Amino acid sequence: MKVDYHMHLEMGSLTLDYLEEFWQQAQRQGLDEIGISEHGHNFRQYEGIMGHLRTGQDAYPKIIRWLSKKFSLDLDDYVALIQAGKDRGWVLKLGLEMDYIPGKEAEIAALIEAYPWDYVLGSVHFMGKWGFDFSPEVGWPDKDTNSAYEAYFTALLGATKTGLFDSITHPDLIKIFGHQATIPLEPYYDAMAEALARTDTCVEINAAGLRKPVGIIYPHPDFLRKCQEKGVPITLACDAHYPNDVGNGIDQAIKLARSVGYSEVATFSRRQRTLQPIG
Ligand SMILES: [Zn+2]
Ligand SMILES: [Zn+2]
Repeated sequence: MKVDYHMHLEMGSLTLDYLEEFWQQAQRQGLDEIGISEHGHNFRQYEGIMGHLRTGQDAYPKIIRWLSKKFSLDLDDYVALIQAGKDRGWVLKLGLEMDYIPGKEAEIAALIEAYPWDYVLGSVHFMGKWGFDFSPEVGWPDKDTNSAYEAYFTALLGATKTGLFDSITHPDLIKIFGHQATIPLEPYYDAMAEALARTDTCVEINAAGLRKPVGIIYPHPDFLRKCQEKGVPITLACDAHYPNDVGNGIDQAIKLARSVGYSEVATFSRRQRTLQPIG
């Protein structure tokens, strides 16, 4: 089964016409099923979880400007749209990509409870108020790369340990702009694989890295191999932000999965996981 469980409508609109472009591209790419996973922060219901990132002395001006356009849509409209697509016979899943913000676990859990998600992705894009994937010019010039990696994997481990999410996305996104840590990352890979296994959470293989400065898939093969050894299932993702990117890189993601020993991919309905043969 060929699936892609990570894509965003945010560059277009919450309309059936726009959603249909994603489904049509999925069919052209030979995908059997796609999951739409809009960012939580596009919705007014997420303001209580991330709104504080745009206030205070330590907020980043570019991130304040970016967040000023967020929290504008309504989750009810989004959920209804995906259902309307399903009603047309499109093979869609209702997902959400939620930023993990330490201290906001109760609010995140409440939003997960409140809607009939097929699956929920857990992400780390922020350490404190620094959105590290925003731009190499935002924050990075002042940071020590090793410390950034340590903070990133600590946050990712925190997200995993909550057990709130069905899959942890792009799980070494910190490499997005090509910054390389010189500290050993094996202990973090071990801790992540262990926590994923213990909380029965999937790990995502995300092909978007191919389209970013780093030019390679998330996560590192050594990380993925440790997940495979611990029996952690995978989800597969292109992370499309435009219809044309649906399924883009999925074949490379499948190749990476197979290279470390995976033969199955996780699919979800109403948060019940089913493993399917890959490809
Ligand atoms: Zn993301
Ligand atoms: Zn995404």
